[in-house]
Amino acid sequence: MLIKLWGVRGSLTSPMTNDEYYGKLQRILERAIKEGLNSHSDVPEFINSLPDDLKWVYGGNTTCVTVTSKSGVMYIIDCGTGIRLVGYDLMKGPSGKGKGVINILMTHNHWDHIQGIPFFTPLYVKGNIINFYSPFKDELKYLNEQMRAPYFPVFFEKTESTKRFIKLDAKRRTPEQLEEDLVVDFYPLKHPGGSFAYRFKQAGKIFIFASDAEFTGEVLEKGGQQEDDFFKNADLLIIDAQYTLDESFSKFDWGHTSYTMAVNCGLRWNVKHLVLTHHEPANSDAKLYENYLSAVEHWRNCENDNMKIDMATEGMTYSL
Ligand SMILES: [Zn+2]
Ligand SMILES: [Zn+2]
Repeated sequence: MLIKLWGVRGSLTSPMTNDEYYGKLQRILERAIKEGLNSHSDVPEFINSLPDDLKWVYGGNTTCVTVTSKSGVMYIIDCGTGIRLVGYDLMKGPSGKGKGVINILMTHNHWDHIQGIPFFTPLYVKGNIINFYSPFKDELKYLNEQMRAPYFPVFFEKTESTKRFIKLDAKRRTPEQLEEDLVVDFYPLKHPGGSFAYRFKQAGKIFIFASDAEFTGEVLEKGGQQEDDFFKNADLLIIDAQYTLDESFSKFDWGHTSYTMAVNCGLRWNVKHLVLTHHEPANSDAKLYENYLSAVEHWRNCENDNMKIDMATEGMTYSL
């Protein structure tokens, strides 16, 4: 499986401000002067040596992740504003000619997870088939609502592509056999209005996406063995880590997790690679990097060498 992150911001799209850009430029140039950078050929190495918050931008698009299976079929998780970029990519292939078959898995219908849909170009191409997998029985209604006049000029159902809805049974939780050797399972998460985690398994490798989830000690206790069974031994777990521990106490019941708790979850479930996502829109790259370093410090204090931790970054890919 190839996993790619197209949108990692939580709650609201948050483009970088000019002030933040200027601050980054200033810090980068000061470093270059200090290190005596004076040759073109040294530039790549210099960039590589920068701390993460100067080396790249974490990104302002809201949640969208793609999973491409070994047979080359792409599954899109959520339609945050990151899906606009997926759409541009797909238009270069069969979807640009009305011959695309596109699979989208919905975690839930908060705005930051559906707002990209009106700007997903393949939606408007006749002949394309878009399969929506969702545990919500009113999925079509929700997608229609956000594109209803006067909020948007084109009604969702009136767009040219063919839309199919595959209802996932939230009660029985029967895993969906997407391909002969690719199964996706799903699990309900604590989040206002409900949200679902997805667990992909192919060729013995496990990828889990669990954003918009409030993991607490109590939630883990309540989930018990069933929850542990769902989450354990993932090769890659992308998990909600919107808050600091203090924020998670003051925003109890808001439906998101602290990075400290996210690390605890990764350790509890024997995860190999943990990726923290759904970044707080108010946080600059510098603040996100600070949070990342604190998460790593917490993990080090737990004395477990076997887990890697990343901060979700737009454009990042993982191969399983
Ligand atoms: Zn969200
Ligand atoms: Zn949400």
